Amino acid sequence: MTASMTTESQFRLGVFALRAFTLAVLYAALGLVAFVAFDSVAFAQPAASPLKSLQIYFVDVEGGQATLFVTPAGQSLLIDTGWPGNNGRDADRIVAAAHNSGINKIDFVLITHYHDDHVGGAPQLAERIPIGAFIDHGENRETTDEATQKRWLAYQQLLSSGKYKRIIVKPGDTLPIKGISAEIISSDGAVLQKPLPGAGQPNPACASSPQPPADKTENPRSLGTLITFGELRILDLGDLTADKERELMCPVDKIGHVDIYIASHHGFNQSGSASLVHAIAPRVAIVDNGATKGGSPSALDIIKSSPNLAALWQLHFSEEAGTAHNAAPEFIANPSGPDAANYLKLTANPDGSFSVFNSRSKQSQQYSAGR
Ligand SMILES: [Zn+2]
Repeated sequence: MTASMTTESQFRLGVFALRAFTLAVLYAALGLVAFVAFDSVAFAQPAASPLKSLQIYFVDVEGGQATLFVTPAGQSLLIDTGWPGNNGRDADRIVAAAHNSGINKIDFVLITHYHDDHVGGAPQLAERIPIGAFIDHGENRETTDEATQKRWLAYQQLLSSGKYKRIIVKPGDTLPIKGISAEIISSDGAVLQKPLPGAGQPNPACASSPQPPADKTENPRSLGTLITFGELRILDLGDLTADKERELMCPVDKIGHVDIYIASHHGFNQSGSASLVHAIAPRVAIVDNGATKGGSPSALDIIKSSPNLAALWQLHFSEEAGTAHNAAPEFIANPSGPDAANYLKLTANPDGSFSVFNSRSKQSQQYSAGR
């Protein structure tokens, strides 16, 4: 009896030990699962934090435009596609920027107007990366210009493939992009008729900016956009000319202050009048000029004398402007010399703080929140 009890208790002890062992294994397994789950959360958080920022690449397309926005929601907007030809040089640079930002598709490609330095690279770009939709101002209005008509027809052929959605916009429209608000300011020669909320102040700079003659090219047809991301306001008007700037800004300023001004028309003096620049009073201006295209001395001087300016950045040293009018060397992506394709990258935070990175120097400048 005793022996059997001993045997039974030994047996029970054995069962207990086995159960305890099984439970221990089970708990260990659960713990491992919990650890893995916790661990993946712990890893996911640092990876997610850069996505709270809006990334903007100012791709060097040698005096054309190609500005890529990647939103925290992972959506992308490319404003213009650079030049055609050169074995797809500009399209390759845009794709490199897209991959650098972590995207493999461009959701929206906005064509400001049909000059070759803006729409020219579209067919080559479409061969290299998936595109969701094109946004434009409608028909080409400069059919008498051979180069412009040629690029317009190439763009039409691209659209006729049926692979892309086409969105034609007018002032006051908002683009269907997640993570930023993108409002159309100008399109096909029409500009905003009513001031934006908070704008509408009399513009003293109008008195010293005479009404320029009407420009007959595609430039004044440029599709202009105001992008708002949290506290930040970013203005891109393509190659909009001074006659349209006056319609937008005089006698009252319909836009209001901005943080970042993507200098109109590559910093050519046919655009970027004081009636625009001094009224929007940007904290930072970025000029997508080439070495010998844009970057006019007087246009750079207007930017530098703007009341709230913290920094003028340029994609290239402007040969015409010389050291007297160009920004300081650290604010220039490409100094004189061989083509190095250096870009500028702006990383913006919802609180209004942002940084500008120069891919040549690998240096960033920080700008605190507050306009
Ligand atoms: Zn242009």
